[in-house]
Amino acid sequence: CGIVGYIGNKEASPILLRGLKRLEYRGYDSAGMAIRTEKGIEKLRRVGRVQNLSLALQSDPLHGTVGISHTRWATHGGVTEENAHPHISSDGMFSLVHNGVIENFSSMRKFLEGKGYTFRSETDSEALVNLIAYHYAKEPEDENGESRFLRSVRKALLHVEGTYGIAVICADYPDVMIGARLGSPLIVGLGKEENFIASDVGALVGATLNVIYLNDGELVELTRDNYQVITADEEWVDAVIHQVDWEV
Ligand code: GLU
Repeated sequence: CGIVGYIGNKEASPILLRGLKRLEYRGYDSAGMAIRTEKGIEKLRRVGRVQNLSLALQSDPLHGTVGISHTRWATHGGVTEENAHPHISSDGMFSLVHNGVIENFSSMRKFLEGKGYTFRSETDSEALVNLIAYHYAKEPEDENGESRFLRSVRKALLHVEGTYGIAVICADYPDVMIGARLGSPLIVGLGKEENFIASDVGALVGATLNVIYLNDGELVELTRDNYQVITADEEWVDAVIHQVDWEV
């Protein structure tokens, strides 16, 4: 339902919490975040309000400057901590937050289970994070200016029937965050040595004025100080940067 991602030089978790709180008006049933910490990708999720996640982070903090977060409005699988986002691929390589519905998730899941990927939730979203991991394991190194990370996400999305706004991080790429959308909104916020992903421009109030509205079928690869937009069919895009007027 709500997505906020951060890559920069500041502690990510307070920035993500602030963004999630700005999206609370949309309604949701659980909240969670995954941060790139010294130990790898670590996640924390709670059923209920963002406040529950915030309290859990006080006793169990996640330190790092790259992270993704989500408020969930359950469509597939009950309202439980296991079904809350972020989800992590069973090989531990990727973490993903997803808005929308993956219509063909059960055939995807069956295929992936046959390949040895395991599932911990009942969500459609977990099939996608494992499909990204599956493509990553098959793909060679970075090629034609496209990273192995970006190509794996792009190839996985070619198999999706349904709708998505996603943010993804990868254990092998500590300084990269990827976003993509189809039928579900996603916005990129460009700051000074920090960049953002959000499902709603309102999540970025006070963070940055410069935004890119991703189009359906586009992916964005973000580092702290750069961005690249590519279509699912591998065309690089000259994205337009808009200035948001928060006074309006
Ligand atoms: N379909 C996903 C789920 O049920 C995402 C729901 C959402 O958009 O929050 O977990």
